[in-house]
Amino acid sequence: MVNIIVIGAGVVGLSSAVSIQRALPGATVKVVADKFYDETTSYGAGGIFEPTTTNTPGIPFETLKRWSETSWKAYSRMATSDLASSTGHTVSHGFLFHTTKTEIPLYADIVFSFRQMLSEELKRLGVDTKFKYGYEITTIITNMRKYLSWLMTQFTENGGVVEKRKIESLSKLYGRCDVVVNCSGLGSRQLFGDKLIYPVRGQLLKVKAPWVRDWIDTDASTHILPSDDYTVLGGVKDKDNWSMTPDPSVRQGILDRCLQLWPALKGANVIGDWVGLRPMRTPIRLEKEIVRLPEGMLKVVHNYGHGANGVTLSWGTAVEATEMVKDFLSEIPLHKL
Ligand SMILES: Cc1cc2nc3c(=O)[nH]c(=O)nc-3n(C[C@H](O)[C@H](O)[C@H](O)COP(=O)(O)OP(=O)(O)OC[C@H]3O[C@@H](n4cnc5c(N)ncnc54)[C@H](O)[C@@H]3O)c2cc1C
Repeated sequence: MVNIIVIGAGVVGLSSAVSIQRALPGATVKVVADKFYDETTSYGAGGIFEPTTTNTPGIPFETLKRWSETSWKAYSRMATSDLASSTGHTVSHGFLFHTTKTEIPLYADIVFSFRQMLSEELKRLGVDTKFKYGYEITTIITNMRKYLSWLMTQFTENGGVVEKRKIESLSKLYGRCDVVVNCSGLGSRQLFGDKLIYPVRGQLLKVKAPWVRDWIDTDASTHILPSDDYTVLGGVKDKDNWSMTPDPSVRQGILDRCLQLWPALKGANVIGDWVGLRPMRTPIRLEKEIVRLPEGMLKVVHNYGHGANGVTLSWGTAVEATEMVKDFLSEIPLHKL
């Protein structure tokens, strides 16, 4: 009997757990995490599919494209099927406004539609003249409240086991499984001593503005992302800041910038604030490692450090992490070496 332990119940951990179950139907898969659902970073993410090389430094273009395409295949199937209301994937039309010229992003030929706008069209929309470039895009926004629940239901209905606890030391896992899949995000700093992982703090406002249906993203720290239960206004990217307390001046800045960007938001009812720490690492760590412990060797597949693209890339990296688990299982057991 094969035993796999996945550390982490964010979108990366749950996606990895579900993907492993599908690939290894006979295996016992356990998710161990100290935070679940609304306690995770994944819960509050805006959930837009917009993978960029800027957000994933150190990852070769072709690798990022492959992960993005694998994720897109799964998400677009869900968004266009009768699963959409339960998985939370929505076909979403919107605009990306840029102050400076950038390369056409790699997702341009992945998403449902992507086209550069004429400056005349930006004028007609009344967009601030500092935004010289505009793109009209149809992509997917994932409602993370729904998607995390759906993943968890898939996992447990498939026989998955869940344990709520903090793993203080890897020694606790020795002898308890064949492979550990590490999706602990920022937790890898303490658990694996990885100094390359750090937080990029984000702060959001949740508002009710059902009349604003299109999403807007910019290169000027301002975005408006409607989902089916509320609209997210953001955002900031504050490197190495671990504070989980909403900052009132940041909040005011977000509100002011969003209202200036899209005056039609006026009248939106603020329903809450949210702070999340993006687990940032150059590069994302998706690899196998044999960890030497005082007790013996532990086979680990790392899958963490997705930064600002964790929702987007979670399924793509989960599928590749699953292949690494299969590779490990096909090798001679460590104690027989
Ligand atoms: C404001 C904001 C907006 C965002 N918007 C988007 C977006 O629009 N699109 C997009 O693609 N991405 C977005 N992201 C990024 C995305 O949210 C993250 O990349 C993603 O959630 C990371 O998922 P994760 O599963 O790696 O980490 P997490 O969700 O942080 O989960 C980590 C898990 O590991 C567990 N853990 C850690 N250490 C231990 C331990 N020692 N023992 C047991 N358990 C442990 C935790 O309990 C938790 O369950 C956004 C992020 C923020 C902050």
